[in-house]
Amino acid sequence: MTNVDELKSQVRQEASSEPERFFPIDVLDDKEFSRDTCDECGRGFWSSKARDVCGEPECGSGYTFIEDSPTEKTLSYQEAWEEFRAFMSERGYTPVDRYPVLARWRDDLDFTIASISNFQPHVVEGVSEPPAEELVIPQPSLRFNDVDNVGITGRHYVLHDHIGQTCFREEDYDQERYFRDMFEFTTRVLEIPKSEIVIHEDAWAGGGNLGASMEFFVGGLELFNQVYMFYSVTENGYEELDQKVLDMGMGHERITWITHGTQTSYRCVMPDAVEYMEEKTGVDVESDTWQSFLPHSSRLNRDEVEDIEQVWQEIADEIGVEKGELKREVGPVADLYAVTEHARALLFPLADGAVPGSAGGGHNLRVVYRRARDLMRRHSWEQVDLEELVDIHAESLELVFPGLKEKLPQVRDMLDAESQKYESGREEAETKLESLKNPDVDTLVELYESHGVTPEMMERHGIHPPDDLYTRLTSTETDAEDSDEQGLNIEKLPDTKRLYYEDQERTEFSADVVAVRGEQIALDRTCFYPTGGGQEHDTGTIQCGDQEFDVVDVEERDGVILHSVPEHDLNHGDGVTCEVDRDRRRQLMQHHTGAHLVGAAAREVLGDHVDQAGAHKSRKDARLDITHYDSLNRNQLMEIEEVARRLLIEDHEVEVMRFSKREAEDRFGLRIYQGGAPPGDSIRLVQIGEDVQACGGTHVSSTSELDEIAVTGSQKVQDGVVRVRFRAGEAAEQYVDGIRETAAGAADLLDAEEPDNHRKAVHRLTEMYSVEEDHILDTLERFLEERDNLANQTRILAEYLGALPEAYPVKGDTLLERAESLFEARKQQEKQVEEMESRIETHVRNQMEDRQVRENIPTENIGLLIQVSRKLARDFSAAVRLQARNGAVA
Ligand SMILES: [Zn+2]
Ligand SMILES: [Zn+2]
Repeated sequence: MTNVDELKSQVRQEASSEPERFFPIDVLDDKEFSRDTCDECGRGFWSSKARDVCGEPECGSGYTFIEDSPTEKTLSYQEAWEEFRAFMSERGYTPVDRYPVLARWRDDLDFTIASISNFQPHVVEGVSEPPAEELVIPQPSLRFNDVDNVGITGRHYVLHDHIGQTCFREEDYDQERYFRDMFEFTTRVLEIPKSEIVIHEDAWAGGGNLGASMEFFVGGLELFNQVYMFYSVTENGYEELDQKVLDMGMGHERITWITHGTQTSYRCVMPDAVEYMEEKTGVDVESDTWQSFLPHSSRLNRDEVEDIEQVWQEIADEIGVEKGELKREVGPVADLYAVTEHARALLFPLADGAVPGSAGGGHNLRVVYRRARDLMRRHSWEQVDLEELVDIHAESLELVFPGLKEKLPQVRDMLDAESQKYESGREEAETKLESLKNPDVDTLVELYESHGVTPEMMERHGIHPPDDLYTRLTSTETDAEDSDEQGLNIEKLPDTKRLYYEDQERTEFSADVVAVRGEQIALDRTCFYPTGGGQEHDTGTIQCGDQEFDVVDVEERDGVILHSVPEHDLNHGDGVTCEVDRDRRRQLMQHHTGAHLVGAAAREVLGDHVDQAGAHKSRKDARLDITHYDSLNRNQLMEIEEVARRLLIEDHEVEVMRFSKREAEDRFGLRIYQGGAPPGDSIRLVQIGEDVQACGGTHVSSTSELDEIAVTGSQKVQDGVVRVRFRAGEAAEQYVDGIRETAAGAADLLDAEEPDNHRKAVHRLTEMYSVEEDHILDTLERFLEERDNLANQTRILAEYLGALPEAYPVKGDTLLERAESLFEARKQQEKQVEEMESRIETHVRNQMEDRQVRENIPTENIGLLIQVSRKLARDFSAAVRLQARNGAVA
C-alpha cells in the first residue's frame, strides 16, 4: 500500500530542492520575495523581508493579527466572497455555484472535504469535462477530525467554506499567472502589505491526487494553499496526470477573520448567530480572562500538541491565572462558539439531504449534533433552541449560498427526530454508568456509541473522558476499496455487446461463443442481463445444433458478460441461438421500474432528502432502501403506494438517454447519482416523469406496463435507512389475490362476513396476532383448535373439582370483532385452566386419609402433579400417588 504522507514528503523535498521547476519563481522575484529556511522547523519559505522563522504560529509567536489586523479593510463574510468573485471574474475565471456537500458522485467520500472534491476523480483525470477550465467556487466542506478543537482555538470548524481557484489545462497552464492573481488578491483586495506575507513550500494530497504547494501565511494564520496538483496517487507511488490541475483552496472564514483581527473568527463569520447565543445564554464572550487567553489559543490545537494539559498550564502561567480557573472561565465561551458552529455545520448536509444515522457520514453528523446538545446541557442553556439557531444561519448565509432557506422545513424535521433519539437514550445511559468503575478510553467510546453516555454524564459520575473524545468518535474517510475481484481465469476479452440496451423487449438472439471456462460461457453479444444495480440476472437457454442448455446465472466482469451453464457441450467458436426467460425478465423489469416509482413517490411523501440507499429486485418481490430519519407508519406507506400508483396511471414514458457526465449534471443536477456515479464519461440516464437517474438496469417502456403496484411493508434497516418492500406486475396481483384469499379465509374460519377492505382487515390481523400476512390463516386455525382444547380441559377439570366453569364464546359480528374476541377468549380460557389447576392441591389434600392417597386427576400437567405430590408427601409424611389423564404418574 502507498503511504500518502511519505509521498507528500517526497514531493515536498523534490520541490524544495528544485524550486524553479515547481514554484512560480518569476512572480516571486518580481514581487521581491526571496527564499529562506525556518530556524525552528527547517521548512523552506519565501518572504519580502528578512525573517528567522516561517509563518507557522508554533515557529513564531502565535497569532499576531489579533487586535492588530494587518489591513485597514474590513470585510463581512458575505463581502469577502463577493470581492473575491468580482476580482477573479475580471481576470477571466468563471464563478460556479457550490456543489452539494453530500458527495453523491463520489464513492470514497460521504461529504465534500475541499473544493477539489467536486471534480475528483473524473474531471481531474480528464475523463469528464469541468464546468469551466478556469473557475472560482465557494464550496462548503466538512471535516470531522477536529471536532474537539471547534470553539477553543477560535479558528477550527467542522464546516468551513473552501473557496476554490481551480484550473484544468492540458495546454496553456499558466502557474505564474494563477499565483500572481492570488498574490494580488491578497495585496490589492484584502489590502495586506506584502511584508506581512510569508509563503511556505509544502505538498498536499487528497482524494487520490497529489502536488507541491505554496501556503500563504499572514500573522500566523494560513489563508490559503495553492496546490499544483500534477499527480495521481497509484498503488506504488504516484504518476503524472494527463492535464495540469491547479487546486487553490482558501478559507473563507479566515480571510474574513484576518480583516477584522477580532479575538476569534466565529464572531465575524457568524455575527447574528453568536449574538443570539449571547442573548440566550448570558455568557460574556469578552471577559478579561478570555481576552488574555485568546492570543495563545492557537497553541491548543489537539492535532499538533502532545500533552494538552501542559499547554494549558503554560498558558495559565503566562497570563498569570490558575489553570483550573482559566479552564472554568474559558470553557463556556468556547462551548458557546462550538454550539454556534455545529448548528451551521449541520445545516448544509441536512439541507442537502444527508440523514444522521448510526453509520458512515450520518454517524459523524450525529456526533456533531450530540456534541452541541451535550455542551448545551453541561451549561444548562435551556433557552437555546438549535432549530432557531439554524434558521438564523440560513438567513445570513442565503446571499452566498442561495437555496438553504427553502430547505429549512426538512432540516427542522430531521433535527426533531435527532432530538427525540438523543433524549430517549439518556436514561439507559445513566443506568449503564452507575455500574462502572474506572473504564478505559475504548470502553468510554463504546459507551458513547452504544449507550449514548456523553462526556458531560461521565464527568458527573466522576469519570474523566479524554479531551478528544468527539474526534475519536467520528470516523475518518477512507479511500474506496479496490473492488477488483481476483481468481477469474477468462483472459482479457473485448466487452460483450449488450443487446438488452438496444431492445429491452428482445428475448431471442444468435451469437458466437468467444470463451469457455468451466461452466462459464462468454458470447460476443447477449440479451441476458447480468446481476447488477440491485436487479437479479436473467435465466434462459443456449441452443447449439439440436442441444439445449440452461443458463442459471449471469454476471459481468470487466465489461464481459459471463453466462453460467452448469451442463454444456459448448466450444469456442460455436454459433448458438439463445432465449431469455421472458416472464422472469418482464417481472424483473417491472420491479426495477417500480423502484424508480417508489423512490419518486417516497420523495414526494417524505421530503426532498430521500435518496436511494440500496435496492433489490427479484422475481417474487422487490425492495428499495431509502434514506430517512424515522421509521414509516402504515399511513405513510399507503400514501407512497398511492403516489406510485398515480404515476403508474399517468402512464409516463420511460425515457433512456445518453449524455456526457458534464452535460447530464448540468441538465439534471447531481441527484442523478442516486445509486452512485458510474465510471466513464458517457452515462445512461433513465427519466420517468420528473425523476432522472443514472441507471444501467432494464425497464418497461412506460409506467402503465407495471399493471399494478403494491407497497407491502417496511422496516428500519439501520438508523437513517428505511427499507420499503413492494411488488409490481404479476407479483403485485398475486399479492393482492393473496390478501383477498386471506381475508375471505379468515372470515370463513370465524363465521364472519367478508370485510369490505381486505388489506386493512388483514393488516389489523397481523397486528392483533403479531404474525406476517401469510401466517394469518394458520394462526387462526391454531387458535380455534386451542380454544376447543382448552374448553375441553376446563370441562373435565371442573367436573373433577366440582366447580362451575365459565364459557368464553367468540362474540361479535365483523371479522375483526370476532378475531379480537377469539384472541381474548383464548387468553381467558388459559387463565381459567390455570386457576383450576391451582385448586388441585387443596382438592387432593382433602382426600388424605391414612397417610396415603391415590388419585386420578384429569390434567396433562404432570409437572404440577409432581410438585403437588412432593409437597403433600412431605407435609403428611404420606405416600402420594397421582395419576394424570395421559397415564403419567407422579
Ligand atoms: Zn517554521
Ligand atoms: Zn433503472
